[in-house]
Amino acid sequence: MDIIYLALFFIYGIIFGSFFNVVGLRVPKKESIVSPPSHCPACDYKLGVLDLVPVFSYLFLRGKCRNCQVKISPIYPVMELFTGLLFAFSYWQIGFQVELIIVLLFISMLIIITVSDLAYMLIPNKILLPFGVLLFVLRIISPLSPWWDSVLGAIIGFGLLLLIGIVSKGGMGGGDIKLFFVIGLVLGTVHTLLTLFLAALIGSIVGIIVLRLKGRGRKTPIPFGPSIALAALISYFYGAELVDLYGNLFF
Ligand SMILES: [Zn+2]
Repeated sequence: MDIIYLALFFIYGIIFGSFFNVVGLRVPKKESIVSPPSHCPACDYKLGVLDLVPVFSYLFLRGKCRNCQVKISPIYPVMELFTGLLFAFSYWQIGFQVELIIVLLFISMLIIITVSDLAYMLIPNKILLPFGVLLFVLRIISPLSPWWDSVLGAIIGFGLLLLIGIVSKGGMGGGDIKLFFVIGLVLGTVHTLLTLFLAALIGSIVGIIVLRLKGRGRKTPIPFGPSIALAALISYFYGAELVDLYGNLFF
């Protein structure tokens, strides 16, 4: 491991993270991801070069638009920072292998769907499809062991979520169901099941916190995508340890 590469992956990560914010916010609205250039949603002020520096511009501007002082959501710099840390962490864990490309794509997809699910309660097909195809091809080049675990994971992930969706009469969004297909491809069967378990756990903790903050009795729909994304990443990096731990506790 080289500290220079670690720093480079972090910098690439925050730059890509800033692009993922744009993709996550624009694709669901069917807008182009290249034009118009980034601008303040409140006053249309076109962001200059300095305003586009990931994470740091948010700190310089103290979370406000340079022109109209409207507050900028902290979600965006947090996503940039997360992407940077996750890219660097992935390189640190995996090094230069095909698997590194797989996990970088996986992280990219999860960050984009988190942004779009938080903003619109939507996980777009236009994101899932290209990432799904790429990850499928890469899982052929760098297979799980056994190789068919990837296919089985996708079928079981999709099928289980579909079943939950039917039983709960629409309690699970179509995007969440399709997302689990892609998660299955990347993680295989056992870690996909672990992801579902962790996502339910994280989702209920988030639900309790939101209920506390916003008051009881209100039915505020909470996007499930971010909980799934976090659960999938925990499963990817620590799934084997968690499954071992579970085995030691109960068997
Ligand atoms: Zn503004």
